[in-house]
Amino acid sequence: MYELDSAALLDERTLVLNRSWAVVSVTTVRRALGMVYRRVARVIAPETYETHDFDSWATLSSARGGPCVRTVSLRIRVPEAVVLLRYDGLPQARVPFSRKNLFRRDNFTCQYCGHRRPAEDLSIDHLVPRARGGRSSWENCVLACLECNLRKGDGTPEEAGLRLIRKPSRPRWAPYLSVAVGRRKASWDRFVSERYWNVELEP
Ligand SMILES: [Zn+2]
Repeated sequence: MYELDSAALLDERTLVLNRSWAVVSVTTVRRALGMVYRRVARVIAPETYETHDFDSWATLSSARGGPCVRTVSLRIRVPEAVVLLRYDGLPQARVPFSRKNLFRRDNFTCQYCGHRRPAEDLSIDHLVPRARGGRSSWENCVLACLECNLRKGDGTPEEAGLRLIRKPSRPRWAPYLSVAVGRRKASWDRFVSERYWNVELEP
């Protein structure tokens, strides 16, 4: 069992790569060490990018510095990244529908006239109005500026003679890469470019 002062370190974040070294997710140090212990993954040494199994990582941990978690008999350096031994796939990101995520998807841009506006000048427009059974969904909602919203009124875009600048759909982000800046590790830069944080994850 881990000692008490290791608890905070075990809640730190570890980057998870698939067998092709593509980023799959971010997990806790606790889960990452479990995967390494069960031989599902290997630790990537941040200095050399060599990979280690649990035993060789433990051996290396006693020789090098860095934050370590302690068990009764071992000091294990906190893994910053692990690579899965079998998994080739990429995760299917399902971004939840929310007001905040809709603003992010439409980039504060009216989807009718294409003008970027401050948040207070934009509203969420239902293509099929709610009064006609239109749902609040990624496919039925877009950002609209006040002018376009007034023009659209209670009708559909077709009825108002409005055309969308693009077809609305569920965004393909990687929500698991939403890690607070202070929790990111410098060694991750090799695997995750800045544009991957909270933007579309293209396989
Ligand atoms: Zn507009």
